[in-house]
Amino acid sequence: DSEDEGGEEYLFKIVIIGDSAVGKSNLLSRYARNEFNLHSKATIGVEFQTQCLEIDSKEVKAQIWDTAGQERFRAVTSAYYRGAVGGLIVYDISRRSTFDSVGRWLDELKSHCDTTVALMLVGNKCDLENIRAVSVEEGKRVAEAEGLFFMETSALESTNVKTAFEIVIREIYNNVS
Ligand code: GDP
Ligand code: MG
Repeated sequence: DSEDEGGEEYLFKIVIIGDSAVGKSNLLSRYARNEFNLHSKATIGVEFQTQCLEIDSKEVKAQIWDTAGQERFRAVTSAYYRGAVGGLIVYDISRRSTFDSVGRWLDELKSHCDTTVALMLVGNKCDLENIRAVSVEEGKRVAEAEGLFFMETSALESTNVKTAFEIVIREIYNNVS
């Protein structure tokens, strides 16, 4: 196996889910390419981005999947979830309805994944403090109740984006190593 060639390699599939327009695609583009798009339409083309990092001198590849806008039609397919070992469930702190959907996304993910999935609840758009509709405490409470990591992020201002992804990736690594 790969150990004979002097290094172990890990490949982890991570999915990003949550209501439409919460910032899923921008979180990924910020993390993978340091890009942000104010007028991003439903994702076209690329299904996933691969990010490499080193943990314990081992090469870890995170294959991070973004929906192609299917969430608008509540039609995220089982193929999307297949093989996922990590996930980010994203809501928009300025739109309460997106927070109310978190439970549904969590149920859907659980119904499609049988293995342990490292999960982070992400309250995105924390730059929109002036129109905040979900408090930090509420986010924390749901995360604690469901056993999820929790973080507020801003893809716009690059707040906590790298940290959120890397906490999930490190947790997966700890689960499997
Ligand atoms: P998706 O449908 O969940 O993939 O959401 P998008 O990434 O396409 O983003 C939807 C809209 O929210 C776009 O207009 C983005 O520019 C905007 N957006 C995404 N992230 C942030 C953020 O952190 N702060 C603010 N203010 N807007 C954001
Ligand atoms: Mg998108």
